[in-house]
Amino acid sequence: MSKRPIRSIKGTQDILPDQSFRWQALESIIRDTMDKYNYHEIRTPAFENTALFLHSVGEETDIVSKEMYSWEDQGGENLTLKPELTAPVARSFIQNNLGGLNPINKLYYIDSLFRRERPQKGRYRQFHQFGIEAFGSEFPEIDVEVIALAMSTFKNLELNGLTLELNSIGSKDCRDNFRKAIKEYLKPNFDKLSETSQTRFNKNPLRILDTKSPDEKRLLKDGPKISDYWTSDDKNHFNEVCELLDKINIKFELSPNLVRGLDYYTRTTFEVTSNLLGAQNAICGGGRYDGLVEQLGGKPTPGIGFAAGMERLLLADQRNFEPTKSQIYIVGLGDSVRSLIVNLAEELRKNNFRTNFDVLRRSIKSQMRDANKLDAQYVIIIGEEELSKNIATIKDLSSGDQKEIPFESILNHIKSLPLK
Ligand code: ATP
Ligand code: MG
Repeated sequence: MSKRPIRSIKGTQDILPDQSFRWQALESIIRDTMDKYNYHEIRTPAFENTALFLHSVGEETDIVSKEMYSWEDQGGENLTLKPELTAPVARSFIQNNLGGLNPINKLYYIDSLFRRERPQKGRYRQFHQFGIEAFGSEFPEIDVEVIALAMSTFKNLELNGLTLELNSIGSKDCRDNFRKAIKEYLKPNFDKLSETSQTRFNKNPLRILDTKSPDEKRLLKDGPKISDYWTSDDKNHFNEVCELLDKINIKFELSPNLVRGLDYYTRTTFEVTSNLLGAQNAICGGGRYDGLVEQLGGKPTPGIGFAAGMERLLLADQRNFEPTKSQIYIVGLGDSVRSLIVNLAEELRKNNFRTNFDVLRRSIKSQMRDANKLDAQYVIIIGEEELSKNIATIKDLSSGDQKEIPFESILNHIKSLPLK
């Protein structure tokens, strides 16, 4: 009886070579863009103390209430696979005293995250984000730089059909007042609210605005707006952000009910959606989190950042490009040529030619078939006869032309070819 092979975990994906080149291309555009804005990469561990997320993301969020992969390890510590990156990066910022070393820290990451959600297109249990965190400035210029960096990365990816939605959820005073107002407004409709919204009503009413229910959205449309509760500083800050965005030609829509799902956000919040994706159309979410560093025990430090979903970016990516192909394939026949071929392949590779040769000791015919399958541009054929004459036959697979070249000139000849 054959054994049933073990399968991967639901909601996780293998990224196979026919897709991994697209990931690499995406990553390289991200890194290039980060470089232009002078953001530097930070890498944090895959797991953290569970308390980190409880104290930052907040117990009332979907992430903490139902999506975290948490466990107690053999030493009795409560650990969690990171479900988001802002808290780990803030933890590291504090722990490594980055704020003490530089007044401004501009960090980026490309990383794996873990959330136990219901898997569907564009929604996985292990997924990837790239994102940035800029610590140290409370001024609108950095809000705009962060948004510009997100939009510029998407532009470099040639993504179309994007919408940038923008809002400000104000400072603490503003939200305290708004919280009272929204509770007042929703109170008569409390019974009609979903269970989630009822819980949020009591614990964190602002998050009701995050609802996905159309009925509740309709109800909220006529309700109080956060903007009515902005302090004059909040208002000035937001106006300046909008003016600067106009100045650099970044189009945006005001979205008065846009709040971020996580508790630590303040003032500017934004989201980028794509009309090329179905239900999971959010590509990127971000905002300001001026209270987070202090909340985690660091010196009060303003911060702003965003995170963008890599799987969704790749789903929206319409570019039609191909992985790099092999250039040279060495076809060999006979025991006596084997060491020569291994040696020649190494020499070509040292000279930066993408080179393959047959490692299955197949017939010439199937080696030629393999060379075609791998899209090689030229084959170098060395059989016993060629060996005895110290020559190799070099064949152009697209034209079929072939030439005999003395062994010692192979490298020079290959260097003279119009290889792609
Ligand atoms: P959503 O409303 O789609 O659940 P979110 O508010 O939970 O998104 P964030 O925590 O802000 O998302 O994460 C930022 C981005 O990461 C999202 O805009 C999305 O592109 C991506 N993302 C979030 N959750 C997943 C997931 N489970 N699988 C794949 N991508 C995801
Ligand atoms: Mg979510």
